[in-house]
Amino acid sequence: MEDSYYHKGLRKRLVEELRKKGIRDERILAAMRALPRHFFLPSGFEEQAYEDKPFPIGEGQTISQPYTVAYQTQCLDVKEGDRVLEIGTGSGYQAAILALMGAKVYSLERIPDLYEQASHLLARLRPGFVRLYLRDGFEGLPEHAPFDKILITAAAPQIPKKLLEQLKVGGRMVVPAGPSDHQYMYIIDRLSANKYKTQKLERFRFVPMLKGIKKTDKKP
Ligand code: SAH
Repeated sequence: MEDSYYHKGLRKRLVEELRKKGIRDERILAAMRALPRHFFLPSGFEEQAYEDKPFPIGEGQTISQPYTVAYQTQCLDVKEGDRVLEIGTGSGYQAAILALMGAKVYSLERIPDLYEQASHLLARLRPGFVRLYLRDGFEGLPEHAPFDKILITAAAPQIPKKLLEQLKVGGRMVVPAGPSDHQYMYIIDRLSANKYKTQKLERFRFVPMLKGIKKTDKKP
């Protein structure tokens, strides 16, 4: 894997495109400019890596479109040192962006192959504090709760209750929710032990959030 001036040039162009589309947080733009997105795609797709599009990463899953990553990260309002729970590691790209911004990231994935690939890649790239788990995101990560922020990167049929409980008072969740092909982004702020404030934002399309760990037919 190599990160050349050619790739850096493509990244610079992508970041300018995101700026034009309304991403204003310079820390997000700096992280996206620094992180080689082509490492997170299958090899041979260097150019596509820097188009503002989602891309298949195997197992029927996708790495989110750069605009979506930037948008969700902006909604999350990440502060340095925030403990962030991500549901849906996928390629590991979003987790790496959050870590580069100084967050302590705990990310859950339900597909063993994706979990393994992302583990290897992030061990090599070392973007900062990232812990990956092969777990069902509907259960969250109770042993490390509560979290300052929770980011869901798959479409939840409705807002997962256990995850709301794992949010700190004063914390925030960003989640695309609603029926398939018709999801809206929500920001949910936990105001007190049993009071939450919900904002409904733009419409998006995500792969569905599914229950349980996926079984593999790979031989041991
Ligand atoms: N954040 C990812 C994009 C992920 S796509 C990236 O930066 O590449 C959504 C991911 O959520 C998929 O990998 C999917 O397998 C995972 N997912 C879906 N339901 C889940 C669940 N219940 N728990 C954990 N991960 C889940």
